[in-house]
Amino acid sequence: MRKLSRRDFVKSGAAAGLAAATPQVLGQAPTVLTPRSAKPVVISSANGNFYKNGGTQTGVEKAFALMTGGKDVLESLVAGVNILELDPEEDSVGYGGLPNADGVVQLDSCCMHGPRKRAGGVAALEGVRTPSLVAHAVLQQTDHHLLVGKGAQGFARNLGFKIEDDLNTERSRRLWLEWKRRTDPGHYLDPDKRAELHEATRQAMVAEGLLRSRHLHGTINCDGLSPRGELAGVTTTSGLAWKIPGRVGDSPILGAGLYVDGAVGAAGSTGRGEANLYGLSSFLIVEQMRQGKAPKDACMEALKRIQANTVEKRLLNARGLPNFNVSFYAVNLKGEFAGAALYGEDPEETGWAGETGRRVRFAVCTEKGPETLVCDGLLPGAP
Ligand code: ASP
Repeated sequence: MRKLSRRDFVKSGAAAGLAAATPQVLGQAPTVLTPRSAKPVVISSANGNFYKNGGTQTGVEKAFALMTGGKDVLESLVAGVNILELDPEEDSVGYGGLPNADGVVQLDSCCMHGPRKRAGGVAALEGVRTPSLVAHAVLQQTDHHLLVGKGAQGFARNLGFKIEDDLNTERSRRLWLEWKRRTDPGHYLDPDKRAELHEATRQAMVAEGLLRSRHLHGTINCDGLSPRGELAGVTTTSGLAWKIPGRVGDSPILGAGLYVDGAVGAAGSTGRGEANLYGLSSFLIVEQMRQGKAPKDACMEALKRIQANTVEKRLLNARGLPNFNVSFYAVNLKGEFAGAALYGEDPEETGWAGETGRRVRFAVCTEKGPETLVCDGLLPGAP
């Protein structure tokens, strides 16, 4: 993927975003721009720079343009991740996300607004392409944080969201059918063998090039600091491919897949959600930043915690280290940011549009324009 020059960025992304930005927060007085007090930045998982849904801007680029044009920081970030949710090519988020074991796309998302100290989330939501918008509506229009399943769908329907029968695309259905054919779940196996079979089937499909392994897990987390010094974050995902129906990972859970404190920083995650749930990693990262750690060091602390908590043999590789990857993205109030992963290398990283090499990456957009940067790794090599 070609990196945009600053001039391209101003021409295509920022300028378009500025023109489109409406300085109005739903249900609130128009936003008044105050003199710049912070170095604005949007940071996300690497997919935030790889999908444009047929448009001209990537997710982080759009979020940055809107945010610096005066739109509310969280609304800008949600608009950024909407690009990925709606892009049928992105099979780990929103429409076209890989479905659960029953072939049903179930989506999770949450979002958090630093200054307003409010959050909203949805889990196992079916039929809505943009779960982040429903999570945002939970934040804005309810006294609750998390709505799940049918209740979340009913809430969305009542607000006028389009409910679709099926969010599969041709691709996600084809891959699910292939998985279904291989696992033949009509036979009820011994639970251990069944789990092994499902895992082995996933891995075989990766080895045959049908799937990129990161899309067995896949998500976008996107966090931003606005020129007014306001922090927010959003995470949205279709979760683990072919999960047990109803399985919810870390993405919609505050403190696990996302946490924001408007006075400190924002952090979020992609990768094995169960590992983040045990350690409430995003909360831990924000707390580490509160104690003065730089974003990178705070992420490393959470990664060390995951390593220490991973003791089950089935989760360890031949080196006795975790056999999965987890990545964190963090930004503090000064606009310092970092992307860090348990392993800085992953063979599956080579598959991103036009990218080569095994380094795990993250996306960022600043006044320099959108860039895709390498994550720091805690452990040597790849999982
Ligand atoms: N964390 C997500 C989940 O566990 C998946 C991912 O980011 O890869 O549902």
